[in-house]
Amino acid sequence: MTNPKTLEKLSERDKKHLWHPLTQHKTHSEMLAISRAKGAMIYDEEGRGYIDGIASWYTCMYGHCNPYILDKVSSQMQQLDQVVFSGFTHEPAVRLSEELIKILPKNQQKLFFSDNGSTSTEIGIKMALQYHFNRGEKRNVLFAFEEGFHGDTFGAMSVSGLSVYNGPFEDFFIEVERIPVPNLSNTQELIDRLEDRLKKNDVAGFIYEPLVQGAAAMKMHSAEGLDRILNLFKSYGALTIADEVMTGFGKTGAYFASDHLQTKPDIMCLSKALTAGLVPMGLTTCTQQVYDAFYSDDISKGLFHGHTYTANPLACTAAMAALELLQSDEIQGNIANIIQWHKSFDKTIKNHPKVATTRQLGVIYALDLNVEMERYGNLRDKLFSHFMSNGVFLRPLGNTIYILPPFVIEQEQMDQIYQSIVDVLEIV
Ligand SMILES: *Cc1c(COP(=O)(O)O)cnc(C)c1O
Repeated sequence: MTNPKTLEKLSERDKKHLWHPLTQHKTHSEMLAISRAKGAMIYDEEGRGYIDGIASWYTCMYGHCNPYILDKVSSQMQQLDQVVFSGFTHEPAVRLSEELIKILPKNQQKLFFSDNGSTSTEIGIKMALQYHFNRGEKRNVLFAFEEGFHGDTFGAMSVSGLSVYNGPFEDFFIEVERIPVPNLSNTQELIDRLEDRLKKNDVAGFIYEPLVQGAAAMKMHSAEGLDRILNLFKSYGALTIADEVMTGFGKTGAYFASDHLQTKPDIMCLSKALTAGLVPMGLTTCTQQVYDAFYSDDISKGLFHGHTYTANPLACTAAMAALELLQSDEIQGNIANIIQWHKSFDKTIKNHPKVATTRQLGVIYALDLNVEMERYGNLRDKLFSHFMSNGVFLRPLGNTIYILPPFVIEQEQMDQIYQSIVDVLEIV
């Protein structure tokens, strides 16, 4: 018997009961139904393929439906699916901790699991605030970069850059002061001003996206300037919290963006590529010193934060498999290739009259168009439709076009993305 429902387009059925993230439904066009994905490709319900130029928000770095990862996770599924992580432990979590510690910055010693990028930063913020509380110091102010993005829960939203979308909640934010990212001309002044401010000894911590601000359209800043800022915060007893949710796991050409810096963070937040895009998981890591401030005979000094699915065995297994792939010669070779392809492409395009500036770190490449416009105006839609009709999935932000391809992308697929960017310059 034919179900009449299946004859109706998915995008129509979607409209009846679904409420999508980051969407004003009244003005948004209909959702595109995606039915399958493989490697660097996603396919819509009509069978049209699109090259996933942003690895589905920087998650599926080893390709969609990666057979190695699927195989590991499906074996784990037969063994142990889910169990409470308070009072219990399991092999996938223990093994993952042992393997991750080997590639994390050396000062990171303890791992706290959660469910997504926002919870990983939320926990980082709570760790920093309680660290000082447990030590009997009153430090209630957090510092963050202007235009930073750390997630959509309350703490994470508070430390993110001010946005018109957050208006209804601003009165409820925790206390945050914002500083600009360091550049060649502002660093000394910034350091002087910050040093004056830090003398009040009320700053609990500084949260930052190291070197690349993803949601701010892949804005990049200098490692040297950031190192000076981090040192200053540390010297005044504030904890540094690296939000590597976007930059983690090879995208900057190193395992972590913090590897490009001399000063290592006290706390690190990870998610996006952690489980290779298969299932959600967040991770907050910290130094022994941070952990020790919670280690006490006084039970209330513990970190009383926990989510039902903490350290889900399937997520840990996916992360373990992803970590093996990341460290393989094959993926490291792919990363080196993509870096070179971006560099060659950059040479051909950076002097184009429609291109204002270009920037690259690792496999992350971005260019700003030499046109004026507002953040989500018509240009963005025009660019997006151009790319999609060329079989390329990119999400331009304002006048920025950026690429963050999965590590497994093939050269012809990368060339198709580059060509569609060259072509789009003709229509803007
Ligand atoms: C995506 C992102 C987050 C939020 O992660 P979610 O999983 O979407 O909650 C936080 N910080 C950075 C830097 C991100 O890119």
